[in-house]
Amino acid sequence: MSYFYFEIASVLLPWAMMLIPPIVIPIRSLYGGAKGLSFLCFIFIKRADFGNERILRHELTHYKQQRRYSPYVVTVLLFWHYFVKNRIWRNFGEAYHSCPFELEAFAAMEKTDPLPKMIFLTLKHNFHR
Ligand SMILES: [Zn+2]
Repeated sequence: MSYFYFEIASVLLPWAMMLIPPIVIPIRSLYGGAKGLSFLCFIFIKRADFGNERILRHELTHYKQQRRYSPYVVTVLLFWHYFVKNRIWRNFGEAYHSCPFELEAFAAMEKTDPLPKMIFLTLKHNFHR
């Protein structure tokens, strides 16, 4: 198979995966003490925080951002803030809290409107505030 098909698949597949409703997966631990991580249609939430609606809302916002801007734009912007800005400022907290995607996700944590119905939970669990 030529590289052409491989390139087309590698560009289209991640974006096509964003058509799948979010799949929430409990995970034992995450790098750097994070409580949640959104990657394509998968949302990983630390087992200890599984059920925390605020964290789910934060990660759902990152999921929506990937749908809105494509996973590539979100990855590049997050990389810029987490690694480049952190490297320049030498302050991860400042770099993290200046990222517009994170600011939107933090604002979403305070919302109380009903959660979207199309969320696949891999563990039967009620989310609470
Ligand atoms: Zn975030």
